[in-house]
Amino acid sequence: MKRLLAGLLLLGLSFSVLAQAPQRPTTIHHTKKAKKEASVYICESSRAYAYHNSTSCRGLQRCTHGVSKVSVSEAQERGYRPCKICY
Ligand SMILES: [Zn+2]
Repeated sequence: MKRLLAGLLLLGLSFSVLAQAPQRPTTIHHTKKAKKEASVYICESSRAYAYHNSTSCRGLQRCTHGVSKVSVSEAQERGYRPCKICY
């Protein structure tokens, strides 16, 4: 019984040592890329009205102007709507 007590004491001691050990920061560094908001692709043409899920969408491939990668909210602010083909 005495031995068990000593063992428990030792266990408790090691636990308190562990608790005192400097903790690793658990916060994950969020990069701009890891942002929650998804990126979409828009055509810079004045006739373009839709934002696309991917650059391989045929709606986007019709675009003769530059293609920009923007966030969904930015695309919506600029008056773009989700593409009917890829959304
Ligand atoms: Zn599309």
